[in-house]
Amino acid sequence: MPPPDPLPGTAYGFGKTANRLAARSFRFWRPYILAKLIAGGQLPDSVSSQVLKIALPSPLRRLFDYLPASRPPPCGWQLGLRVRVPFGRRDVVGVIVELADGSELPRSQLRAVIEVLDDAPLPKDWLWLCRFAARYYQHSLGDTLHHAMPARLRQGHAMAGRTQTLWLANTQASSDLSRAPKQAELYTLLHQHPHGLPTRAVSAHGFTREQLLALMKKGLASKREITLTAPEPPTGSLLATPALPLNREQATALAALHEKLDSYHPCLLEGVTGSGKTEVYLQLIEAVAAKGKQSLVLVPEIGLTPQTLARFRNRFRVPVVALHSGLTDPERLDAWEAAASGRALIIIGTRSAIFTPLANPGAIIVDEEHDGSYKQHDGLRYHARDLAVARAHYHGIPLLLGSATPSLESLQQALSGSYRHLRLTQRPSRHAPAKLELIDLRHQRRQGGLLPDAIKAIKSTLSAGKQVLIFINRRGFAPTLACHACGWIAECGQCDSRMTLHRQPPLLACHHCDSRRALPDACPECGSGDLRALGSGTERTEETLQGLFPKVTVYRIDRDSTRKKDSFEQILKEIQRGEPCLLVGTQMLAKGHHLPHVTLVVVVNADGGLYAADFRALEHSAQLLEQVAGRAGRAADRGRVLVQTLHPDDPHLGQLAEQGYGALARNLLEERRLAQLPPFTFMALLRIESPKEEAALALAQQAGQALRQWLKETAIATNCLGPVPAPMERRQSRYHIHLMLTATKRSQLHTAASWLVQWLEANREARKVRWSIDIDPQTLA
Ligand code: ADP
Ligand code: ZN
Ligand code: ZN
Repeated sequence: MPPPDPLPGTAYGFGKTANRLAARSFRFWRPYILAKLIAGGQLPDSVSSQVLKIALPSPLRRLFDYLPASRPPPCGWQLGLRVRVPFGRRDVVGVIVELADGSELPRSQLRAVIEVLDDAPLPKDWLWLCRFAARYYQHSLGDTLHHAMPARLRQGHAMAGRTQTLWLANTQASSDLSRAPKQAELYTLLHQHPHGLPTRAVSAHGFTREQLLALMKKGLASKREITLTAPEPPTGSLLATPALPLNREQATALAALHEKLDSYHPCLLEGVTGSGKTEVYLQLIEAVAAKGKQSLVLVPEIGLTPQTLARFRNRFRVPVVALHSGLTDPERLDAWEAAASGRALIIIGTRSAIFTPLANPGAIIVDEEHDGSYKQHDGLRYHARDLAVARAHYHGIPLLLGSATPSLESLQQALSGSYRHLRLTQRPSRHAPAKLELIDLRHQRRQGGLLPDAIKAIKSTLSAGKQVLIFINRRGFAPTLACHACGWIAECGQCDSRMTLHRQPPLLACHHCDSRRALPDACPECGSGDLRALGSGTERTEETLQGLFPKVTVYRIDRDSTRKKDSFEQILKEIQRGEPCLLVGTQMLAKGHHLPHVTLVVVVNADGGLYAADFRALEHSAQLLEQVAGRAGRAADRGRVLVQTLHPDDPHLGQLAEQGYGALARNLLEERRLAQLPPFTFMALLRIESPKEEAALALAQQAGQALRQWLKETAIATNCLGPVPAPMERRQSRYHIHLMLTATKRSQLHTAASWLVQWLEANREARKVRWSIDIDPQTLA
């Protein structure tokens, strides 16, 4: 993504959203703007009548006009203030994003702000990023702001600093607690702490909230809110443990980063798995923190483990704030505030952490920048890595994108010189990442999906006292349940897909819509009892392996087995103890984790992405294979990777096995260039869905026609392809139809996408279906 440029026709400028007709066209606005210019910036009839333009949580791409409340806030009316306003019959929380001299609506129709929620505006950098994201992704600004703020702010709570509730015993009061011994004990405890006990400490002593409230009701206890002051910045060394001495490549990379710590400096750190990228991040953060500046570190969804956090926290003496899904709403607000106030110097989080405000931004780091979890697939369809690029540019700070398997987008930027290209080709542990050994699945008997050669290798690895990872990208027992008598296959009633057979617990489940059905005893078509499970999923492979190696622990790691909170963490801990064992898992296990005792990786089937319709499938599947392979032999022992395939002669797979991801990726880039696909063109995807196929199709056709006509008239160089049905047309009983836009110039793509969105917003038929626009879609599904 190039640095943020103003996109023509898409800005929330001119207060154009001031009325209901706004979406229709710019033409409508000409008289208004002219009037404004003639009047020297003020409309004649609205000299002192200030109007607040407010972004509200609504999918409508427009702002709403309100009158100021009778008393202005102490800071005056400023952009970025949160306000509560009447909206229909409800009150909602919105953000002031423009101040205007008047409204298109008569003053009598405007309602006034009910209440101002903040003493000071929300952070400027945050507001900038939200505006940028809304414009870039063609999304409603109000919805974007809403999405990007912590839940507590969304709900209208005050943006307090960090507060804590303290519980105190009331010594004056007296009440008989002889019949409530627990409460009596609690009272004694509070009594022993005259300065008060925080809630957390009370529960650590084994008391409940109910007991506290009971004491309070009896007048025996009271609570007090206190504001915590920022911790003192550490004096002396920033480090709790010393940095590792870098190897030559790491040192070269770090030196390159040091050269430009005070300006926009995008870098791609392409380093094989286990080559010590994290050590480079840590030392960059150290340099940034030494200047008193903050680092924002993004990690993939499954990468934010206690293990990762511990690595950062053990290194530094400054506080490390983590933004993850396990936080409570107040904790999340606290983390936000810590970043916005500059109290936190290191902020680590997943995708949405890109929206964390920073008081003193110093660097942004995106680990595993190719990871799919950086893209949001509904609502505001943003890519956190791309926003990181825009944000680093805005702040004028270094940006470090790291990966063993860079996305073709970032790789192309590095190869073309737009990003600085830093490389790590060696592992500190000396062992190069293992080569993939392809083994032919054709004409061979399998057990639980595994070939005899794979089973043999598993056996010898176990007897050498090592661990084996078996990677299989399918949950459940078997992907298909079929009748051997008549050929019936269990299919989902709501999607164009088969149901997966599960055994733990036994049921049929659709992995696309999550619908479930009981297992039939007999074929619903012919009544035969000969129903067979075809193919293998994690459950079947687990069962087979347990049968073959009854004395060895088999851990299954997929979404089903790790549903319970912390169960994945528990398993990882046990694996790290190093006993010989078998790990059967999906990609949850395949990425990022350091599994020092695994020396053999078996890929049950490598063919998923080879011949898929989606042009990115091969890239993504190669990344996954390389990442899985990278789990083998990360410590003292050399690793081995066996890859089962039905296509051992496939040239792409062959290149991946022989030369690794880096070589394949460069080759794929050439193919993309020839085919004029991203990153050499830019893409936007309009998705239309409806329970009625005709409705979705008709609208897509109309939209396509209108757009093509407009493109012709305006000579905007954008192609419009389609309508075409989505690869899985029916999902959750809805039909999905696509229209695709491509252009070689990003600005032209945005102009076209913006026009299309406005056309749809003004179209009556479009209100009867669901539609969404996806800028830079990562999948065509
Ligand atoms: P990556 O992030 O590239 O996957 P890591 O940073 O996790 O790699 O490094 C892999 C292993 O190598 C870790 O155990 C790390 O402590 C070790 N390591 C990294 N850099 C060095 C170094 N310069 N000297 C010794 N060990 C290192
Ligand atoms: Zn049958
Ligand atoms: Zn389904």
